[in-house]
Parts: sequence; structure tokens; C-alpha cells
Amino acid sequence: MLLRNIKVPAQQVSFLDAVRIGLGEQQGLFFPASWPKVDVDALLAMPFAKRSAHLLHALIGDELPLAELEQMLGEAFYFPAPVAPVTEEIGSLELFHGPTLAFKDFGGRFMARALLAAQKRSNVSRTTIVTATSGDTGAAVAHAFYRQPGVQVVILFPKGKISVLQEKLFTTLGDNIHTLAVDGDFDQCQALVKDVFNDRELVGRLNINSANSINISRLFAQVCYYFEAVAQLTPAQREQLVISVPSGNFGNLTAGLIAKVLGLPIKRMIAATNANDTVPRYWQSGQWQVNKTVATLSNAMDVSAPNNWPRVEDLLAQGVIHRSALSTQMVDEEDTQLGVRQLSQLGYLSEPHAAVAYRALKRELQPGEYGLFLGTAHPAKFKESVENILGNPIALPPALAAVAGETSLAGDLAADFVELRKVLLSLE
Ligand SMILES: *Cc1c(COP(=O)(O)O)cnc(C)c1O
Repeated sequence: MLLRNIKVPAQQVSFLDAVRIGLGEQQGLFFPASWPKVDVDALLAMPFAKRSAHLLHALIGDELPLAELEQMLGEAFYFPAPVAPVTEEIGSLELFHGPTLAFKDFGGRFMARALLAAQKRSNVSRTTIVTATSGDTGAAVAHAFYRQPGVQVVILFPKGKISVLQEKLFTTLGDNIHTLAVDGDFDQCQALVKDVFNDRELVGRLNINSANSINISRLFAQVCYYFEAVAQLTPAQREQLVISVPSGNFGNLTAGLIAKVLGLPIKRMIAATNANDTVPRYWQSGQWQVNKTVATLSNAMDVSAPNNWPRVEDLLAQGVIHRSALSTQMVDEEDTQLGVRQLSQLGYLSEPHAAVAYRALKRELQPGEYGLFLGTAHPAKFKESVENILGNPIALPPALAAVAGETSLAGDLAADFVELRKVLLSLE
């Protein structure tokens, strides 16, 4: 299936080309212009990895044979995505059982494999991945590419603005994983990555690729766990399903909307943001006004210029998603803390991102509906905030305990493209 550039519709590329190129001309995003028909019931009856391979095959077409996808997904999605019941009418879709304890593992692990497949087919022997992270992408991408021959990974993160444990998960690896602590916020990191892509010479010399949520392979991979969620629900819950997504760059939300377009029974989706509320304000007023990014407890969502939003607009423009199927909510810091405490009183340990989604769901859920909020990260990844909110200590799972005492290998970088260019050229 061909993907078209949303900004330059004449540019149409295959899936693997889109994976390799990342961003299209004029920084346009690649996205399908039409959608396959899938047999939802048959898919729901399959086990997770196998179902995911079938689903991705329907989305991608014959460019990746089903058998190759089954192999890739078997390796990539080796961990579960369980729905944990919280109350009678609310559950948490736990997406943090992968190696770096956040949902970014799903997209990151499939993208790494898709990229290596694209590279093999085009006889490219080396690739440089340049990516910006607001916290969890960095770790997922780093682990997915760690020690892969022919791949160098450069990760930019906003210095001091992500949790210590989040940082330790990717800055302590070394080898082919290079990490840079940028003196700025996430939007500045993202802007630097865009500058890199505008530098044709640099991109050509190093064969640079992005691993951000703009990469279509990540979005497609994320569609799979929405199916996995519904597969675990009762028929009654499936009929009245509302899903609340804690949103930053809006990749996760876009993936849920794609699942709905493919026929998954989702009644409505809620996009929940923290105080970085460009989208909720836009949804009310029609004015796209980007304010300065503010730091919050849910730091992986501290994004004020969400780069997947054009894809949501495109789904609305295609007429496959109706405005009424989506609502938006801003959840402030106080409400976020309240969410963590309320969930704890219900016997469910959470963290600020999930709590944002939970509070938004509580505002919106109607009698008779069943609500899922996405648990996007393991609570221990945000140990300090969670302990401060709840006033009691929480334990570290083994993956975090192992890196907690290690030293960060990250270098410092001014938010300056000329400096970044020097670092990249030194990898040549
Ligand atoms: C990345 C991230 C988000 C936001 O996801 P988007 O797809 O960027 O909207 C939410 N929660 C956590 C824990 C994350 O790491």
C-alpha cells in the first residue's frame, strides 16, 4: 500500500520507504489515504503476536510478507498488554511490561525491525538514527537498536526535565548509543531533529533516519495493542467502550483512531493532556495557538507542538473519523495528583501519565459505558513523584533496579544546530 505525504500529496511512497525516510518533503507526514477492510472478529480470536502480524500485513500490504511479519512481531511483542480491572466500569490497559517499562517499547521495537528490513532491501550498510525524546522514546529506541551492527543511535533529551530513572534507562548503555543532554525543552530537541533533516548533505552523508513518533511504523505497531485490549473485554464492555489516552505528541491517540477506522468497536476516544493543552484549547476555539512548554508531573507529555496532530486532522478530513468520536480534556497538576491518590485508594498503583487519562475519563464516562485508560508507563519509572504524592515508598522492578546505580554517559549540548552537526559528523 502507498502512503502519501499529507503536505505534498503528490509524494507517494511505499511503507518501507516511508520507514526509511521518516519525514516527507516540506516536513510532511506520511499517512495512508485509504484503509483496508479487516475481519475484526477473526483477528480478535488470535493470540497477540500473530494477530498483530495479520493486522500489520493488512495495513502494509505485500511489501513485508506475512511470515516475515510473524517472525518480527514474535520477537518484538514478547511481553503482554493486560487490561487490569480498576472498578466495575473502568480498567487500565497496562502498556508497560516491556524491557523499558513504557508503551514506547511497542513502537520502538517494531520500528527497529522494520528499519533493518528496509535497510537490507535497499542494500544500505549503515544508518544513523537521530531522535528526540521527552522521556520514554529514548529508552525504547536505544534498547531496540543496542549493538545492532551498522546502526548508530543519537538521542537528544531535555536536560534535567525527565526523571532520573527514565534517563538511566538509556544513557548508561554506551556502545552504539550516543546520548545528548540538551540545554532546552523537548520542543527545542524536536526542532533540532527537524534541522538535521533539513540539512540534505548531512542526511545523505550519514544516512540519517528518525525514530520519533512521526515514523509510520511506530503508529502502525501501536494499533495492535488496542485490538489486544478489546480482545480481553466482555461483549457488553465492547459495545460501550470509551478509551482515554494520555497525550503528548498524539501518536498513541492517532493509533487508537486508526484502530477505530479499521472497525474495532470503540465508541469514543478522549485525548487527555496536562497543562500543555494546545489541542484541548484548539478543539474548543478552533485557534491553533502554541504556548511555551511548561514542566509537569507527566513530563513525557510536556509537548506544546504535538507533531502527530496533522494525522488526526487528516482522519477527520478523510471523513473516516467524526468529530463527535473524539473529545479533549486538560488535567492540571492538582487533578493529576488527585488521580494518583484516588487510584491508590481503589487499590491500583499508578503514575502521573495514567492519572491524567483516568481523571479525564472520570469527567467523561456516561452511565452504562465501559472506560479504559492507558497505563503508559510503569509507576516505578516515576518513583519520586509517586512517592511524594502517596507519601509511602514504592519498590523498583528489576529492570530499573539494575540501572539505578549506574553512571550516565550523556554529553551536554547547547540547543544549537551547529553544535549538533559537529557531534553527528564526528560519528562518520
Ligand atoms: C510518550 C508518552 C506519552 C505520550 O504519548 P504520545 O504518543 O506522544 O501522545 C504518554 N505517557 C508516557 C509515559 C509516554 O512515555
